[in-house]
Amino acid sequence: MVGRGIRDEPWVFALSVVGSALYGIGTAGSGWLLGRVTDSVLAPAFTTGTLEAGQLAWAVVQLAAVAVFTAIGVVLRRAAAGITMYRLQARYRRLVTRQYLRLPLAWHHRHPAGELLSTANADVEATWQVFAPLPMSLGVAVMLVVGVVAMVAADPVLALIGLAVLPALMAVNTVFQRYMSPRVMRAQALRGEVSAVAHESFDGALTVKALGREAAETERFATVSGRLREANIAAGRTRGLFDPIIEGLPTLGTLAVLVAGALRVRAGAAGTGDVVQVAYLLTLISWPVRSLGWVLGELPRTVVGWRRTNGVLQAGGAMTHGDGEPSGTGPATVEARGVHYAYLAPAREGAGPDEHLPVLHDVRLDVAAGSTVALVGPTGSGKSTLASVLVRLVDPQDGQVVLDGLDVRTLRAGAVASSVALVAQNAFIFEDTVRDNVTLGAPVPDSEVWRALEAAAVAEVVRALPEGLDARLGERGTSLSGGQRQRVALARALVRRPRLLVLDDATSAVDPRVEAAILSGLREGIGSVTVIVIAYRMATIALADEVVYVEHGRVLGRGSHEDLMARLPGYRALVTAYARDAADRARIRADEAGSPGRAS
Ligand code: ADP
Ligand code: MG
Repeated sequence: MVGRGIRDEPWVFALSVVGSALYGIGTAGSGWLLGRVTDSVLAPAFTTGTLEAGQLAWAVVQLAAVAVFTAIGVVLRRAAAGITMYRLQARYRRLVTRQYLRLPLAWHHRHPAGELLSTANADVEATWQVFAPLPMSLGVAVMLVVGVVAMVAADPVLALIGLAVLPALMAVNTVFQRYMSPRVMRAQALRGEVSAVAHESFDGALTVKALGREAAETERFATVSGRLREANIAAGRTRGLFDPIIEGLPTLGTLAVLVAGALRVRAGAAGTGDVVQVAYLLTLISWPVRSLGWVLGELPRTVVGWRRTNGVLQAGGAMTHGDGEPSGTGPATVEARGVHYAYLAPAREGAGPDEHLPVLHDVRLDVAAGSTVALVGPTGSGKSTLASVLVRLVDPQDGQVVLDGLDVRTLRAGAVASSVALVAQNAFIFEDTVRDNVTLGAPVPDSEVWRALEAAAVAEVVRALPEGLDARLGERGTSLSGGQRQRVALARALVRRPRLLVLDDATSAVDPRVEAAILSGLREGIGSVTVIVIAYRMATIALADEVVYVEHGRVLGRGSHEDLMARLPGYRALVTAYARDAADRARIRADEAGSPGRAS
């Protein structure tokens, strides 16, 4: 992973290592210089009692020059290391989010949104965090070499005494890593869990509040965040235990050098400058060793972060495309040939083989160009699943979906999306203007937007907004009623002038009268189009040329409404129950006439 990062940003990374090497050379040089200045300026001053101004000034100039050199190294290293790290984070965030959008819906079914959020954010960040201390520890390897050589040159005996702490320092570092790794890994994994729980409870805020589950949700969140706290504290405790030892060892070495050095100076075996130089260099070279410790300290987080990031980047199952082009400009024909579809159970780390939940069984269906087909069936019978197979949000495990006579898998990428529009059961509204919610950024003239809004019977509502098309709809369209949201989503589909329109219960929250107006006016709004409409209402069914009845993921029959009423008891029961229910509601509404109610 480190190799990959370096390959991605070779030049900036090299610059940061060079900066770090300059820093290392400068620092070691300053130790050497300090030794020389001690010998030539300070020590004579103690013996003669006079200090020569010229000599002192020259020493100051030399020290200042080395300091500037070192400072340039520091700036270069820090800036370049920061740029490397942030560039890598940005690059992999983009890669991960692009991959999210590329992965098919089937993958998304198995990965909760909170997890995606955590990988794109915390995991990517953790992965490249190691690039902050890495240049330092690589660059200061130079410092280690230069420092050791300078120490040995100054006084081999003192150098040996001082360097004796290094093996101890490395040993302590190794033990530190061994204790630290599992704690840091756990904390990083928990960070993802906290994000997932938080996302879910904010997403479900309405439900949570409506059912008075605030306390339980707070508790659920408190539990995971409490676990994260414990994991972080455990890591901090380990760090707190080892840090003083790692800090203290070099100081012990320096003390030993000073004591031994004083004895050697008294015996005449070493000069004062040599002792100063060795003591100083020793404090310096403990730095590279420590920075290596920081890199090793980051690695566990990096490993966890990278494992997840890479898991997303390597995720297979992306849809395959050919280079076919759907023929024709008029309404499309669509056909399901022996389609089998099964959902996979949510992905769990370390779980056994994937569990399949079969939903569609050998579904055969062909829809003629320009016709309207009503898809009817009890909830859970697989209608929405069939809709997402037909518009190729997912590929069936077995069988074929054929658009305009071509297997959708042979069509070029984007071809299906440009011919087909699905209006889903739950309309998603972006926190954006009405215009952008309809066009989704496509260059569409306002007149077309109005036409689509008109056809979706929502133009009146938009006209009533003070800012019209520029009015911003709140997050998920909370400023609209359910029926209005559905109609904006419908306008979004219509403005694209699809050749096949799939309405998945897309007008369920709309008044039946408005729904009938929408469906009968559809063709005027966008010209001729093939329509598959998933519906329960008699009024909707009545508008269809043909009805297809689905139960338990199988097509049980197709034909006219009357035909199915006569032939299929399941169909009869479903439709009449729904009609009776609707009639009841209509009666209740009539009884309450005059009492204020919200328009659809
Ligand atoms: P319908 O639209 O007819 O009400 P669906 O197509 O939504 O039915 O669902 C059909 C079946 O597939 C249901 O039993 C449902 O539990 C299951 N199902 C739907 N979505 C998923 C999913 N993402 N993961 C697993 N099972 C699912
Ligand atoms: Mg459904």
